[in-house]
Amino acid sequence: MTLSVTVLGATGSIGVSTLDVIARHPERYQVYALTGYSRMAELAEQCRRYRPQRAVVATAEQAKGLQQVLRDAGLSTDVSWGEQALCEVASASDVDVVMAAIVGAAGLRPTLAAAQAGKRVLLANKEALVMSGALFMQAVQASGAELLPIDSEHNAIFQCMPGNYADGLARVGVRRILLTASGGPFRNFSQAQLADVTPAQACAHPNWSMGQKISVDSASMMNKGLELIEACWLFDARPEQVEVVVHPQSVVHSLVDYVDGSVLAQLGNPDMRTPIAHALAWPERIDSGVSALDLLLTARLDFEAPDPVRFPCLRLAREAVAAGGTSCAVLNAANEVAVQAFLDGRVGFTDIPVIIEDALTQLPGEPVIDLEHILSADRLARAHAERWVRARSLSITL
Ligand code: NAD
Ligand code: MG
Repeated sequence: MTLSVTVLGATGSIGVSTLDVIARHPERYQVYALTGYSRMAELAEQCRRYRPQRAVVATAEQAKGLQQVLRDAGLSTDVSWGEQALCEVASASDVDVVMAAIVGAAGLRPTLAAAQAGKRVLLANKEALVMSGALFMQAVQASGAELLPIDSEHNAIFQCMPGNYADGLARVGVRRILLTASGGPFRNFSQAQLADVTPAQACAHPNWSMGQKISVDSASMMNKGLELIEACWLFDARPEQVEVVVHPQSVVHSLVDYVDGSVLAQLGNPDMRTPIAHALAWPERIDSGVSALDLLLTARLDFEAPDPVRFPCLRLAREAVAAGGTSCAVLNAANEVAVQAFLDGRVGFTDIPVIIEDALTQLPGEPVIDLEHILSADRLARAHAERWVRARSLSITL
């Protein structure tokens, strides 16, 4: 049977890797819809190659332009725009699998729509789960959706868990989850050096090639903070059951520690096509295009503890998850604003955790009522963080 796939965020790093895996297995997968927010020429090229029924862009103007280009190329792809259209292609009855690879809070509604519609959801968009954890997991349960993690660490953990892990970690004998972190490009930088780093340095990750936002998150270790929260929801773990270990080679993608002393790990070259192929084909295995791991070439596997002083984002994530309710949405929104402000040269790298901590202190978490409540916490936190950034930009100009 050929599975029909929607790729949300097709023009991004994960989207491109997903299409690369799909192209290797035309007998298994066909593309139903592709979506992109910018890079319209790349999206048009993807449509020519994968011939989706639908494409979704951000604005009416983009939709008009892309529709014309595709018609001229003899394609019948229907182009629409906006969040409602994203939700439609994520939940359409013709779709079997949805790759959720939009970055940030913008992916929440479409990813949730796929979960509510009972799809196989390949979750790359960790921010969606961080914001709406309880609601999202309830939607998956209610619809019978299959939620498969794409984040390399969570995909590794999933692979090391027994099939019945949903019965509860204690029941299946899991003691701890060991979440590995590369430590990012600034692992060995002093506090003073961190204050002067540039966006270009932050985006040059030593092991992975990724979008800008997650690259900055990796540099600040907020990526690991978001992943800690993600692991709690995906595996129904308590925060203290998830331990972060810095592993600079990014070969061990994470580990599961069992009560009998066994520790299972998943290893591989750092290439996202491995977790993507795993989740697309699960429980089968397919070629991903990733070369075999050469252990002799790897030679060493190092592990060290994260430094809470130079990288406070991990502590902030632990505090947010402990506070619960809307706190994780606040953490995520303040982080998105802070990262964008850093990329735009409006604040320094070491301002990122300060902005987030300020938002968490000023906007205490509330028990979540519904999705609208989460989105309202997100808006408030963005406005709060923006005010912080504006005040800082003003003081830099003066
Ligand atoms: P990216 O920036 O390369 O791509 C993001 C995609 O989302 C693009 O297609 C873009 O057009 C689209 N997009 C951006 N803003 C949008 C908006 N407002 N509305 C609709 N679409 C929008 O990012 P990426 O590196 O591919 O990461 C995507 C997601 O996957 C992130 O949540 C990230 O944390 C997660 N992830 C990525 C990697 C990786 O190796 N790149 C690894 C693990 C998890
Ligand atoms: Mg990851």
